Amino acid sequence: MQRKPIYLDYNSTTPVDERVLEYMLPYFTTSFGNASSRQHAFGWEAAAAVELAREQVAGLIGSSKEEVIFTSGATESVNMALRGVFARYQDKGTHIVTCATEHPAVLDTCSALEAQGAEVTVLGVDDGGMLDLEELRRCIRKDTILVAMMAANNETGVLHPLTAIADLCHEKGTLFFTDATQAVGKVSFDVGEAGIDLAALSAHKFYGPKGCGALYVRKKRPRVSLLASMTGGGQETGLRSGTLNVPGIAGMGKAAEIAHSVVVSEGLRLTTFRNKLELGLSKAMPGLKVNGNTLYRLPGVSNVRLPGLTAVEFMMKCPELAISAGSACASANPEPSHVLRAMHNSEKACASSIRVSLGRQTTEAELSLALIEMIAASSSLPVN
Ligand SMILES: *Cc1c(COP(=O)(O)O)cnc(C)c1O
Repeated sequence: MQRKPIYLDYNSTTPVDERVLEYMLPYFTTSFGNASSRQHAFGWEAAAAVELAREQVAGLIGSSKEEVIFTSGATESVNMALRGVFARYQDKGTHIVTCATEHPAVLDTCSALEAQGAEVTVLGVDDGGMLDLEELRRCIRKDTILVAMMAANNETGVLHPLTAIADLCHEKGTLFFTDATQAVGKVSFDVGEAGIDLAALSAHKFYGPKGCGALYVRKKRPRVSLLASMTGGGQETGLRSGTLNVPGIAGMGKAAEIAHSVVVSEGLRLTTFRNKLELGLSKAMPGLKVNGNTLYRLPGVSNVRLPGLTAVEFMMKCPELAISAGSACASANPEPSHVLRAMHNSEKACASSIRVSLGRQTTEAELSLALIEMIAASSSLPVN
């Protein structure tokens, strides 16, 4: 039987933590109640599990529990935030500001809103993937209803200065949404401290189950109003009707609690690993370039441009490694990464870039093995 490759693609998804799985299981079988059943113990038990999970997620992001709405994942949360604000703030205007390096969940939703009459400004970034805050300040207008800027980029790990962006938005009187899917559980992320109005997150990016996410919706100063994304039984304060995914939500809560307790130690461990990897690679491959600002970056993520070889060729030379050319979404189609393109890379440079993302199960031994394989793959490269 073929050995499974070493998993180095934690930004695309993570395995469910064993403790999370263990915790979820009873909610499929013995504790299967509908959280909306108010008349009996089955319902109460399910509702209690959901409310505990809400507290755990709130604890991870620094919100109050009433500000957490459970969804099916970050894509749904993004849609709910952008479409929900667009529908509710038409009196103020229809202008939305976002950024060229956002996830397709944000960019494609903005395009869909453009077709409904929104005016969208897409800001560019510098070579390192950073925003120009002065440019952002200049483009926020009286009729700007929302600024959507991700917390951490999924392809490069580059971090946006959330507090500075939030301050700017509030000074100008507009709402600030952040797609925090890659930041949550990896770096400290606190909606209150940063001054965020809406934030999207997804359980499967922090060792919880797939198909479960949340939207943070600020309740006070200001209270953010959204259009309901689903109508029906009135669950999730009427914003998202439908029977709650109790096992998934319980698992997301448990995953949030664990992530909260290890965020600092894991951040340090993975930063060391990442630096070791980049140092080893650049020694073996002079001319290797790190994509993205190296000062403001997630731990454990390395997006590098290989000298003289395409990512596809390189990945074929090291089949024992599960890495990614660009993002998971981008690798299904042959288009060059829109993130790397926005950072002023040529199509050729994009095609030569790979993303390695480390995670909780990554060991020192795996890292050393991966480095050896990558160096071996690179030594058979033509020199250019
Ligand atoms: C993974 C990801 C998403 C989509 O999350 P789903 O829960 O899979 O819908 C959105 N934004 C970013 C930055 C991501 O990394």
